[in-house]
Amino acid sequence: MMTAFWTEPDFDDHELVEVIRDRASGLTAIIAIHSTHLGPAGGGARFWHYAEPADAMRDALRLSRGMSYKNAMAGLPAGGGKAVILADVARSKTPEMLSAFGDAIEALGGRYVTAEDVGMAEADMAAIARRTDHVSGLPVENGSAGGDPGPFTAMGIYLGIKAAVAHRLGRDSMDGVHVAVQGVGSVGGGVSRLLARDGARLTLADIDGPRVGALAEQLGAATVDPSRIMEVECDVFSPNALGAILDDAGIARLNAPIVAGGANNQLARPEHGLALAGRGILYAPDYVINAGGIINVTLEYVARRNGEHCGVDEVHSRIAQIPGRLTRIWRESEESGLTPDMVADRMAQASIGR
Ligand code: NAD
Repeated sequence: MMTAFWTEPDFDDHELVEVIRDRASGLTAIIAIHSTHLGPAGGGARFWHYAEPADAMRDALRLSRGMSYKNAMAGLPAGGGKAVILADVARSKTPEMLSAFGDAIEALGGRYVTAEDVGMAEADMAAIARRTDHVSGLPVENGSAGGDPGPFTAMGIYLGIKAAVAHRLGRDSMDGVHVAVQGVGSVGGGVSRLLARDGARLTLADIDGPRVGALAEQLGAATVDPSRIMEVECDVFSPNALGAILDDAGIARLNAPIVAGGANNQLARPEHGLALAGRGILYAPDYVINAGGIINVTLEYVARRNGEHCGVDEVHSRIAQIPGRLTRIWRESEESGLTPDMVADRMAQASIGR
C-alpha cells in the first residue's frame, strides 16, 4: 500500500522534503529540511543502497530531525537537514550524479548545506562544491576550521568522558580510570589516545584486528574480542562504532556506571534511555557529546560564506563547552526525574521553537 511521507511516524513538521530525480545522470535523492529556525539546515549527504525507497525516506526524515537537535545543542547558527542519495546495489557513483546533486542543493538557495556522511568522501564534496557553495567539510589550510571532523569529534568525547567521571564518580583525574572503547577508528582511536595521555586504563575492541592490535601496543592497552567489549567491568563504556547497541540485551550486559561515546543513535529505541537509568547508568546523550565534528565544519562554512577566517582555536573553545552542557543535562535530569536523553531532546526542541 502506498502511504504519504507526512503520515510516517518520523515526519515531524519538516519544513521541506524534496525528491530529486535526474533522468540524465540517474540520480535519485531526497533532501529533507527539518528546521531552519536557527540558520541554514546543516547535515550530511548519505550515499546508500536501500532495499525499499520508503527506508530512504525514513532515514532522511529521522536523520534531518536529529541534525536539528544536534546543531541546536551545539549552540550553532544552523538548522537541521539531511540528504540521502539512493544508490543501486553496486553503489555506482558518477561525476554526473554528483553534479546533479550539487545543482539541486544550489536551487535551494542556501536553505540546505551539505557535508560528508556514510558513503561519501572528501573528493565527492569537492565535486559537489563545483556546482554550489553550500557545502561544508572541504579541505582547508592547517590552523583553519574545517577538514577531517574525526579529531574534533574525539576531543569533545574525551572532554565529555572526563565530565561524566567527575559527575558520577567524583573523580577529577583520569589517572587509573578504566575505559572500555568499542571501535578504534577515526573517533574511537582519537579518544583512546587522549585518554591514554591522562593515564586512563584502556580496554579496546574493534573488528579490525590489526588496527586494534597496533593501537593497543602503542598505548599499552588491553584488548578483548569485539563480542565481549560491552561486558567489560570498567568505569566507562565508550561506544564509537555502531548505532543501536543500547537495546535490552546490550544494556543488560553492561558492567559500567557510565556510557559516553561518539557513535550516532546509540539508543535502539527511546525507552532504552529509561532502561539505562533503571540500572543506575549515567548516559551522555550521543548527539551532545559527539558534536565536535559538526562544530568544526559549520564554523568553516559560516566563515567562508562571510569571507572571514575561522581558526581552530575558535573550534576548540566551542568544543570546550560540551562538558558543561552535559553536566547541565545530568543535573536537570536528576532534578526532574527525566532521563538525560529526554532532557537533551527537550532543550533542543525549545531552542528550535518546537
Ligand atoms: P570509522 O569508520 O573511522 O571507525 C569505526 C571503527 O569501528 C572501525 O575501526 C571499525 O572496524 C569498528 N567497528 C565496526 N563494527 C564494530 C564492532 N561491531 N565492534 C567493534 N568495532 C567495530 O568511523 P568514525 O568516523 O570513527 O565513526 C565512529 C562512530 O562515530 C560512528 O557511529 C559515526 O557515525 C559516529 N560519529 C563520527 C563522527 C566523526 O567526526 N567522524 C562525528 C559524529 C559521530
